Amino acid sequence: MNLYADLLFTGGPVYIADPARPRATAVAVRDGCILAVGTDADLAELRGPSTVVTNLAGKLLLPGFTESHVHFIELALRAAQVEATEARSAGEVIDLVRAKLNTSGSATPARSDAWIRGGGWNANIWTDGVVPHRALLDAVAPETPVALDSKALHAVWVNSAALRIAGIDAATPDVPGGIIERDADGVPTGILHENAVDLVARCYPKPDLAETTAAVLAATPGMWATGIVALHNANDTSDGLAFRTYQALHRRRELGLRVLQQFPVCNLDHLRAIGLRSGLGDAWLRVGGVKMFADGALGNRTASMLQPYVDEPSNWGVAAVDPEEMLEQALAASAAGLSLTIHAIGDRANRDVLNVLAEVRKDEGRRPKETSSLRHRVEHVQCIHPDDLPRLVQLDVIASVQPIHATSDMRIVDRYWGPGRALNAYPFRRLLDSGARLVFGSDGPIEPHAPLIGIHAAVTRRRGDGSPGPEGWQGQERITVAEAVDAYTCWPAYVAGEESYRGSITSGKVADLVVLSQDIFRVDPMAILETQVEMTVLDGRVVWKK
Ligand SMILES: [Zn+2]
Repeated sequence: MNLYADLLFTGGPVYIADPARPRATAVAVRDGCILAVGTDADLAELRGPSTVVTNLAGKLLLPGFTESHVHFIELALRAAQVEATEARSAGEVIDLVRAKLNTSGSATPARSDAWIRGGGWNANIWTDGVVPHRALLDAVAPETPVALDSKALHAVWVNSAALRIAGIDAATPDVPGGIIERDADGVPTGILHENAVDLVARCYPKPDLAETTAAVLAATPGMWATGIVALHNANDTSDGLAFRTYQALHRRRELGLRVLQQFPVCNLDHLRAIGLRSGLGDAWLRVGGVKMFADGALGNRTASMLQPYVDEPSNWGVAAVDPEEMLEQALAASAAGLSLTIHAIGDRANRDVLNVLAEVRKDEGRRPKETSSLRHRVEHVQCIHPDDLPRLVQLDVIASVQPIHATSDMRIVDRYWGPGRALNAYPFRRLLDSGARLVFGSDGPIEPHAPLIGIHAAVTRRRGDGSPGPEGWQGQERITVAEAVDAYTCWPAYVAGEESYRGSITSGKVADLVVLSQDIFRVDPMAILETQVEMTVLDGRVVWKK
């Protein structure tokens, strides 16, 4: 039997993400697990003839990162679609569609290529002031259906061919919780909001398992390259394609990321019927909670608010579900041993969700501990009224937030919600001070998933270009590097119920590690963005090296 370490890291710094003992200088790994943590001298005797030694020499060793809110199947599939996130005008988006049309064509007869799909467009950042319209797409794609998701995924921009296939015309009524934008003559513009997105989305050729497993395998090294070793997959389709994809890879022992899968509320009755509960699984694939939606998004002004949008006094946003119905579903989920993962952006939505969770906790108080210790979470918490903020910790609910949203959406927050409510937006400092736990993610593919980008945003509240200045946007909400790292390491493991075996560099836990090019605890916070991921270790194996 090998008594020595497989991997030995020496010459620290090591941040172990365990409040009991935040720093060490050396870590030993054997058989996929952390064997020992301590000083170089403590661990010297674990160095054997075949031990691979990495002298950190100022580089920082951390637990591998967990991305707590990502739509990874979409992110992986998106890699093969029109990617319009960087487009700064309608014209640039149209150019991308034209290029995709020219490359797809007849060479690849795959079903999915019958449509041009893509996303990431955000008219708020276009410099040409053009309003997205079906006619712009028709000009380059008169026959091929085109559907481009908005950056926030709460709207879709389609051409006439897509409208035709979906059977949407001037006579089609709006759907509950959705809007079909129309020209003055009543003809749809090609922009569909919220629930109306489904009218066209249900016509997309469905990617099959072969396509999604291949896409996930292809996208996995890109996650390792940013230090990510685990993810919480934020949702699934009603046919369970994401869960089936991860299961297929798990069965083949090819899953390269640890996955916590959330399940869409439309499948709640099925989950209850078969008795599936949060926490089932192993160190690679685990059953998460039930994903529900309380409202829409900030970017297209459907976040549900306690006061109307600043320049649109009749718009209070859109509640995605009646609070009574949300409560009924939440109680049913909790009683079945399923935790809740509820999307809430606006201050009204967050209040609705906390009201629901208060009732759920009351109900759980009457039940045996087995189904009452569920780790519920609110996704986004983008705007929360000061009266509601302390309720997260009171109800023992985790805030799953995306720091990159704070800096990328700061101008829209100021414009749509006004300076008063901007004070209640992304209040990470106050949430932590209240005792609430934060987990960080990116909402990828909506935003770039690299955790260092998120850490930088949370610590500085500034964009990469330094704007809006040294104090940052709502700079009173800045948090420390340690708090930001914990939100990518130990707390995501906790919310997933995995804290006994991962999330910190503690002996006995799985060896998921990342080496950064510099000590982000010591550099100027703006320099966090320049930090490189030098090595990623997953389950004791070096999976990525610069
Ligand atoms: Zn999301």
